[in-house]
Amino acid sequence: MPAPDASATSVQTLKLYVGGKWIDSVATQTLEVRNPAKDELLALTPLGGKSDVDKAAAAAKAAYPAWRATPPVNRIRPLFTLRALFEKRFDDIARTITLEHGKTLDESRSSVRRAIDNIEVATGIPSLMQGRSLEDIAVGIDSYTMRQPLGVFAAITPFNFPAMVPMWFLPHAIACGNTFVVKPSERVPLSQQIIFELLHEAGFPEGVVNMVHGAKDAVDAILEHPDIEGVSFVGSSPIAHYVYKRSAEFGKRVQALGGAKNFVLVMPDAEMDRAAAVSTESCFGCAGERCLANSVVLGVGAAYDAMVTRLVSEAKKIKVGDGLEAGITMGPVISKQHREKVLSYIEKGIAEGATLALDGRGYKDPKNPNGYFLGPTVFTDVTPDMVIAREEIFGPVLCVMKAATFEEAVAIVKKHDLGNATSIFTSSGKSAREYRWHVEPSMLGVNIGVAAPMAFFPFGGAKGSFFGDIKAHGTDAVDFYTDKKVNIVRWF
Ligand code: NAD
Repeated sequence: MPAPDASATSVQTLKLYVGGKWIDSVATQTLEVRNPAKDELLALTPLGGKSDVDKAAAAAKAAYPAWRATPPVNRIRPLFTLRALFEKRFDDIARTITLEHGKTLDESRSSVRRAIDNIEVATGIPSLMQGRSLEDIAVGIDSYTMRQPLGVFAAITPFNFPAMVPMWFLPHAIACGNTFVVKPSERVPLSQQIIFELLHEAGFPEGVVNMVHGAKDAVDAILEHPDIEGVSFVGSSPIAHYVYKRSAEFGKRVQALGGAKNFVLVMPDAEMDRAAAVSTESCFGCAGERCLANSVVLGVGAAYDAMVTRLVSEAKKIKVGDGLEAGITMGPVISKQHREKVLSYIEKGIAEGATLALDGRGYKDPKNPNGYFLGPTVFTDVTPDMVIAREEIFGPVLCVMKAATFEEAVAIVKKHDLGNATSIFTSSGKSAREYRWHVEPSMLGVNIGVAAPMAFFPFGGAKGSFFGDIKAHGTDAVDFYTDKKVNIVRWF
């Protein structure tokens, strides 16, 4: 069933998907969803709250007993259909991501591919969800574990990967036998609208998957809801911490993935040309709005000077514009307000004494004069105490820092509060190994720009980038969305 009005040209207020039907939110306030390349209004997101969440949670709760009783082999059948439907609408979803978010079409396509990967992994649930057993834990007594679903789970997701991040969670959760509520980012709800059309078409029973819209009120209603057993959150660190604490207060399972400030350490023995090209792509891809962006290059010794010229020259090659146009390699940032925020960080960097080696502040796209564009910006002579080195900018700003030795570089990375991802560029296996041993970020790249996981590996950060115990996707998803029941059995 298509989402009502999804293809209409007039601006629509989006509906919720609850119990297999598209329904109106009772919200009185809406948020404009605008195309960041053109500043054009695309849709209105209803800013719902408790009443909308109550309906979705009730539908999910009602669907749970029958869904749980559906054998895993049957639960995954609609996921195979969903996968096929994703392929059919692949370009449509990618184009919608670019329209609502601004990233280039290639970047959008990659993120849809990663979403599909997660559906594929979740179809392995009949194998992944198996328990373990041991015969004769004592004479005549056997013991085995089985994994059971828990009930209703919810996902609360950020703006930077509108289609992919909800798919880090939903396929695994429902394949395990839970039912689900998604609250997408209110800023980019349109690709989820298409995905819920596909979920409907895939034939999941009513209430197994649901979608609400909103911001803080909707989030609070999810966190406080007595019928929601657990929450998967992705967003900025302060909100991730809030979601973690609040969920725990209400007795929920929670995994809260937060913000990032990722360092790439470049050793003097690295292949400098490749390190510079890959680091530039890592920092400026998705206009820097990526939790795995390496936004600080830390040059050790002679690597600093070698990297500075190369990074500036690589950054100058970036073509900024509307992500739908061929040849564009960096789109706009998400909103006017975010553009202002990034600009204020650049001003701060100048005031703090960093050298502005490439200034993207004045970038204008003649074809799209109203777009929220910024050119790539490179700061050199950055020191660890500067605000631009400490805080997540989440825009196209690269900071280049110097460390005299490997030990000093490691100390800088260790001192930072956040720990999502990091990379090292080196031709020495020993340096790579030592780096991995010492630093905390849980995604670690060796001669890799974006230390991204695949759906069959776990994903999540460390320190202030992650609040919880069990990470996203891979076999961790099965741990998060199930409880282990231990059976101890004796037959007389
Ligand atoms: P955000 O924290 O502003 O919003 C994330 C979600 O939280 C949204 O659904 C939003 O509605 C909700 N929210 C916002 N303010 C809230 C409040 N006061 N109370 C309750 N809920 C609230 O994040 P964003 O700007 O949408 O996304 C960018 C952030 O997400 C960056 O910090 C980025 O690093 C992070 N991120 C992290 C990962 C990861 O895997 N660790 C992945 C993607 C994005």
